[in-house]
This record gives sequence, structure tokens and C-alpha cells, in this order.
Amino acid sequence: MNLQFSDEDERFRHSIRDALKDLVPPDMARRTRQGVHPTKADLKAWNRIMYERGWAAAHWPKEYGGTGWSPLHVHIFEEELAAVDAPFLSYFGLRLVGPLIFTFGTEKQKKQYIPDILTGDTFWCQGFSEPSSGSDLASLRTTAVREGDEYVLNGQKIWTTEAHYADKMFCLARTNTEVPPQKGGLSFLMLPMDDPGIQVRPIITIDEGHSVNEVFFENVRVPVTNIIGEEGRGWDYAKFLLGNERVTNAHVPRAKRDLVLLKQMAETELRNANGTLDEDDVRRRIAKIEIDLDGLEWAVLREVIGGSRSPAIASALKIVASELQQHMAELAVDLIGARGRVYYDEADLERNDLAASPPEYVPGLAARQLFLRATTIYAGSNEIQRGIIAKQQFGL
Ligand SMILES: Cc1cc2nc3c(=O)[nH]c(=O)nc-3n(C[C@H](O)[C@H](O)[C@H](O)COP(=O)(O)OP(=O)(O)OC[C@H]3O[C@@H](n4cnc5c(N)ncnc54)[C@H](O)[C@@H]3O)c2cc1C
Repeated sequence: MNLQFSDEDERFRHSIRDALKDLVPPDMARRTRQGVHPTKADLKAWNRIMYERGWAAAHWPKEYGGTGWSPLHVHIFEEELAAVDAPFLSYFGLRLVGPLIFTFGTEKQKKQYIPDILTGDTFWCQGFSEPSSGSDLASLRTTAVREGDEYVLNGQKIWTTEAHYADKMFCLARTNTEVPPQKGGLSFLMLPMDDPGIQVRPIITIDEGHSVNEVFFENVRVPVTNIIGEEGRGWDYAKFLLGNERVTNAHVPRAKRDLVLLKQMAETELRNANGTLDEDDVRRRIAKIEIDLDGLEWAVLREVIGGSRSPAIASALKIVASELQQHMAELAVDLIGARGRVYYDEADLERNDLAASPPEYVPGLAARQLFLRATTIYAGSNEIQRGIIAKQQFGL
């Protein structure tokens, strides 16, 4: 299926394509293709490059430092970025807390936080999940008790992505333990990560990588001015943010690029397989992935351009997109066979000489497939999304 773009859209695409030519440093592009967790240095350097062109927050309104482009142009821009293997920009500031601050924050908070999110000088992390409070976020136990002009924060977060990079965290905490979160028990706070009462401990995931952490709070004092919006409305702000997270997590432009690379890999591997690969099966699996991706792209475009048509659409997109990523990674590992078992850690993948030995796609592939097990868990597990669809869409 081919999408037809207008002449104006095509002109826009070509202007972006020209401007992006040679912009991504080759080693960064290789690490992106290999699916390495981005280093802080890469994230910062790429954010700066994008910021200098006014593109760090392409999807934001102009008044806050975005481009003011239409959603379709943002989509085209992201396709062109993916096509040149540009790394993702840091997610938590630009995608999550930034829009929350300019939508619900005070003028002072906008001035204080937005500029450094745009430049990438401040990195953020998201402190929602806690032990036993992931799917059941409403049961979270971290407390923020008001003492004068401060909240005193005690508790623990878990699975906090990039907490070890982050300068600041946005988090949910109980400011009222007498009422449930949905009825005013939770608030949304922002805090610096260098407070002495904060301890960050790494969690090494199944791919042997370090991207997630545990974060402990012991009497962390947060000024009351660091609250977003009103005390007690944390649940509403979290819902706003999680809805955005599930749609942006569809990552259609990146999935399209991954499919191009997967097809190239399949051609090479089938050519060299001497009959050890079942060619019909490989072609069938690629066709299925392509059909699902086409459908996903149409659904995402309908959503971003036409506005939401279904209360549960963000959940449906999250399910399809996350499973697609897993299917692509599984096929890639099946294609390279036993070579996929060789383990390369992130430090290996940062070495440029490694790219020269096996085909570039081999190192890191198995680790990537293992890490992508997490896509059906984070941003709300797929079982939870199915529950939301059953309830909101079908009233079950
Ligand atoms: C790589 C990674 C990065 C993450 N990054 C962050 C982050 O930056 N910040 C953050 O706050 N959190 C983060 N998370 C946490 C993530 O949001 C939670 O792991 C997720 O919401 C699931 O919660 P849980 O781990 O407590 O599992 P549980 O809620 O205990 O679920 C365990 C299993 O039970 C199933 N289940 C639970 N309840 C139901 C139900 N009602 N119906 C059907 N099935 C159910 C789940 O689907 C899952 O399969 C991250 C997680 C991972 C793996």
C-alpha cells in the first residue's frame, strides 16, 4: 500500500532530506542501526545538533520552541530522521514532561524548565512504577508529606529508565493517603536527582545492558513550587502523559527503517544459506510484518492527523507496535542462526573496529532481541492494554 502525499508535502520531505544529509555522525548512525542503548554523550550531542537547527522539539508548538509543523509534516520529518539512522532524542523531557509543563505548568515553571529540555542540557527520568505498583499504579506508596513550603518525600521507584543519566525526575507521590489516587490522593512533583536523600541503583537487564534503575528516596525535601498543576490531581496528569506515551511508542518511522534493514539482511542471509533457511517461511514472515506495519501506519496517521476516533486507540496502537518490534527482532535472530548467540556488550558496540568484522547487523542483535521482550511490558503491559480496550471500547 502506498500513501499519496501532496506536492507540498513532497517538497517538504525533500527539503528535510537535503538538510539531513551527512548530519548524523557515522558511528552514531551505526550504533542506532545496531539498537544500542544510547549513551548520554550521544544523546546530548544529537540533541544539540537538532536544537541548533530548531528541530529538537519538532512536534511542539512554536511558542514553546517547537516548529509548529502540522502532524503530517512531523511524521514526514521523523521518517526522514529514521531513514538516516538518527538516534532517538531523549524521551522523557521532550516527549513526556515538556508537553505536561507547557500545558499545565506555571509561567515560572515554563521559563525554568523548557529551555534546558530543548537544548538537552537537562535530562529527565520518569518515576512512576514502584515494586508491586506497575500495572496497578494506583497502589503506589511513595509519600510526599507537606512541611511548610516543602514536601518530604520517602519511598522507592523501580525500572526508572535513564535515572543514572538524569538531572531531574518527574514523579508521582501520595500527598494524601486518606483518599484514593483517582480521588485526589496523588500529586505530580519534579525534583533534582542530586539531592543527598536520593540513591540510584542499577538494574542489569536480560541483555546485560544498563538502562533501568531502582531509585530510593529518604527524606528528600521538594519545594512546593515544584508541583505540576494542582495538589491532588497527579492522577489526571499521569493519564495525559501515558496517553501521549502509548501513541509515540508506536515508532512507525523507525519500524519502517528496521523493515528495510531486515529485508536487506534477509536477502544476504538467504543468498548465503545454502538451503539451511526455509526461504518460504522467511518471505511469509516478512510479508506479515509488512502488512501489519502498513496497517499500523494508517492507524497512527489517522490518529495524529484526524484526532482520536476511539477511546482505546492508544492502547491498540501500543499492542500492535510493540509486538511488531518483537517479531522483527525474532526474525532477525532466526536469520543469523548461531552467530546470534555471540554476546557483544555495549562497550564492544561503541568500538568502531567491530563494524568491520562480521556483517554490521550481527553484533548486538541477540541482545537487542532480548531487550525488546520489554516492549510488551513497559508503557503499560499489553495485557493491561487489552483490558482497557475491553472496557473502554466494548464496555465489557
Ligand atoms: C525496560 C523497562 C523500562 C521501564 N521504564 C520505566 C520508567 O522509566 N519509569 C517508570 O515509571 N516505569 C518504567 N517501567 C515499568 C513498567 O511501566 C512496568 O514494568 C509495567 O507497567 C508493568 O508493571 P510491573 O512490572 O509492576 O508488573 P506487574 O504489574 O506485576 O505485572 C506482571 C504481569 O501480570 C500482568 N497483569 C498485571 N495486572 C493484570 C491485569 N489486571 N490483567 C491482566 N494481566 C495483568 C502483566 O501484564 C504482567 O504480564 C519500565 C519497565 C521496563 C521493563
